[in-house]
Amino acid sequence: MNNQKVRVRFAPSPTGPLHMGGVRTALFNYLFAKKHSGDFILRIEDTDQTRYVPGAEEYIMEALTWCGIKIDEGIKEGGEFGPYRKSDRKAMYKDYAYELIKSGNAYLAFDTSEELDAIRSDYEAKGETFTYNAETRDSLRNSLSMNDEDVQHLIDEGVKYVIRFKMQVNVDVTDVDLIRGSVTFNTDRLDDKVLFKSDGMPTYHLANVVDDHLMQITHVIRGEEWLPSMPLHVLLYEKLGWDKPTFAHLPLILKPVGKGKLSKRDGDKMGFPVFPLKWTDPKTNEVSSGYREDGYFPDAFVNMLAMLGWNPGTEQELFTKEELIAAFDLDRVGKSGSKFDPEKAKWFNHQYMQLRTDKELAAMFSLFLDEKDIDVELEYTTKVVCMLKERATFLPDIWEQGSYFFEAPTEYDAKTVKKRWKEGVPEMMQEIHDFLSSYSDEWVGATVKELFSAFVNEKEWGFGVVMNAFRLCIVGAPMGADLFDICEMIGKEESLLRIQNGIQNIQR
Ligand code: GLU
Repeated sequence: MNNQKVRVRFAPSPTGPLHMGGVRTALFNYLFAKKHSGDFILRIEDTDQTRYVPGAEEYIMEALTWCGIKIDEGIKEGGEFGPYRKSDRKAMYKDYAYELIKSGNAYLAFDTSEELDAIRSDYEAKGETFTYNAETRDSLRNSLSMNDEDVQHLIDEGVKYVIRFKMQVNVDVTDVDLIRGSVTFNTDRLDDKVLFKSDGMPTYHLANVVDDHLMQITHVIRGEEWLPSMPLHVLLYEKLGWDKPTFAHLPLILKPVGKGKLSKRDGDKMGFPVFPLKWTDPKTNEVSSGYREDGYFPDAFVNMLAMLGWNPGTEQELFTKEELIAAFDLDRVGKSGSKFDPEKAKWFNHQYMQLRTDKELAAMFSLFLDEKDIDVELEYTTKVVCMLKERATFLPDIWEQGSYFFEAPTEYDAKTVKKRWKEGVPEMMQEIHDFLSSYSDEWVGATVKELFSAFVNEKEWGFGVVMNAFRLCIVGAPMGADLFDICEMIGKEESLLRIQNGIQNIQR
């Protein structure tokens, strides 16, 4: 790499929520930039006004922020190369389109969409495909097939036109892609793409090249679906007399099962999110789930995404952001698509749960308790988290597995009641209640257990019978941590209360 400062851009179109594939593209751009002490730019490509979705732009920015992908230049951040929203750059493109016309590399085309549709149908009827290119352009209505006077006449009359790129005949366009190596396209397979539309807006192709040039982008790292656009882009740089950036086309993220790209529709259908954040479609009100709302930690999500298509060349799977930046390289991004594995995503979250301190997790879990109007000391929550986190993948799992630490059971598991709450049990529990309420030593699980066991032995009760009934009163179900640990945590008073509640409320 030469001494030029690395500058990359993530250029999403605000046509809806950002798919996790898009987040990965942003992430790889970011990691690459930071690895080379470069800049990460967010450019919003709202070229297609008809597909603009309100809220999408904010969603994209919020998603990147959640992932810890810091934007160096963008709409909010500003920067020397703004504006960073394509529609705000509208006035910049026309001159370049005319420059291409002047150099003989572009032309005006007056064909209406109805005319082109009719031609397309004629071709289809003959079993052929119509392409607007060197073979057909002379028979169509454009500034190459018409004389200057006629062209001027149409312009003066206000007839609408587009500007098309004049694709050369039979030229091999070769470029070295950082992931795919040398890639060659023959221009005969390409069409005369529209560069500038009749509504005064550039198309993606022209705008993208102009912006990348003006913003001094050094590396264009984007999804594989843009690879077919590469020859046109390379030619545009050449015809405009500009140095082109280095391209890197990332492989697809594939469905967990079957074939093909992981699509926006797959997620909720298959039971996992495909979006980083929850999204409510402003038109249909349809809600799509998000990793954030499903309880994923942003660093776990980012780590998981980084491993989709990239590998460090070692067995290491867990990486902090800093480690990712240090280890990341486009050389280690594979050419073929990687299957998304939702179970692996959960595995990452579980790992990150274990890596976090109990205190950190407790602070996060407290927000969850706040929502339930449960008010406990952070120290208490920290102890609960410490006891349960090993078995938890998501924070709400701590509630699922340990709600009894925070509230008394309001229901009792019917199956267990039937099996364990036999005749004589309420009386037995009453005796246990009285024994424990006269218990005056320090209320420590292990000590209570010892004295309690001696008491049960003396009574010659079956330990299993006692413990099952006892657990039913305290937890409400045959699950949970060591019973005496629970009693220690919730305290003597609450333990006695729960036994009393059980005696009164458990119905066979
Ligand atoms: N606006 C394009 C998209 O939506 C950007 C493609 C590119 O990075 O060149 O993905």
